[in-house]
Amino acid sequence: MEPSLSLPHVARSAGRTRAMPAAWATLAALLGCALPAHAEWVRRVTDGIMGTRITVELWAQTPEEGNRAIDAVLDEMRHIDATMSTYKPTSEVSLVNAKAADGPMPISKELYDLLTTAKQYSEITDGAFDITYASVGYLYDFRKHVRPDDTQIARALPAVNYRHVILDPKNQTVKFSQHGVRIDLGGIAKGYSVDCGIDVLKRLGYTRAYVGAGGDSRIIGDRFGKPWIVGIRDPRKGEGNVIARIPLVDAAISTSGDYERFFEENGVRYHHIIDPHTGHSASKVRSATVIGPYATRTDGLSKTAFVLGPERAMEIYNRLDDIDAIIVRLDGTVIYSNGMKKAAPRAAQ
Ligand code: ADP
Ligand code: MG
Repeated sequence: MEPSLSLPHVARSAGRTRAMPAAWATLAALLGCALPAHAEWVRRVTDGIMGTRITVELWAQTPEEGNRAIDAVLDEMRHIDATMSTYKPTSEVSLVNAKAADGPMPISKELYDLLTTAKQYSEITDGAFDITYASVGYLYDFRKHVRPDDTQIARALPAVNYRHVILDPKNQTVKFSQHGVRIDLGGIAKGYSVDCGIDVLKRLGYTRAYVGAGGDSRIIGDRFGKPWIVGIRDPRKGEGNVIARIPLVDAAISTSGDYERFFEENGVRYHHIIDPHTGHSASKVRSATVIGPYATRTDGLSKTAFVLGPERAMEIYNRLDDIDAIIVRLDGTVIYSNGMKKAAPRAAQ
């Protein structure tokens, strides 16, 4: 069933104004002003940054100008990857993991701010989102089907707690309160890089664009009277099979799924979202989609349902004014946040 949409950032008039570009052209002709000769949609798909697929699409005055803007977005994402990736031993986050248990460590403003944001999401989600999940998470390798046994988990688990990350705003330092703590920004970095990509485009003057990194996307503007349409993948079917198509304008959307990075052993699905309380894969839903104003925020919140379960997560999403959500439960049924439910029919006047 398609949800009835009543969000501020979800377009309500899908398909109503299909002829807008032509209308603009007519209006421009009437007013005697020329539309740019080669203005067009420019789109590029790039693999390999942050281990994911990056898609950028924008309305540009010329293809050359559009492609230069896309290059700038990708450069920004490479910079974030180089700073935040735990796969790169020289990244700032890897240095923090190596040294922050020894004492306060000065870090860049960018990383400091993101760690502060991450902490806020831990507080909002009752600790379901927790970048110190990595204190256990590093023992998993989903590609190689490696997982820790119960003894290893029990030994590492005390180091999982976002309160172990101590931030000092005056000196812009980070410290871990004990050894064994590791952080990983994999649950927020893609959304953050999408927001940074959008900021790059806004600074360059773009007003209609889409930036996506794996399951995290953000949109500015519309498609000349039409919304952008983002599909939510069916968690148990291949790519291209969607459970809903969401029309969006000026919004971010993130989907987390248990199908992204996983392996199965004796009928148990081990996948890449970890319950900070148990150290095991968090398996209380199949997928969760969060819609909001920024991709950092929607990314940070999309893991909650896996850890807390659909009902508790939906309570949190419903409490947040700028957030809506669609959750696919383990039995395949779908639930929507209050903002996406059908408005009560008005009595006939
Ligand atoms: P993607 O990486 O494809 O965007 P998600 O947005 O669902 O997928 O994020 C999953 C990632 O989040 C994991 O690969 C891991 O890096 C990180 N992560 C796993 N469990 C947690 C957690 N409890 N809190 C914060 N981040 C987590
Ligand atoms: Mg994500």
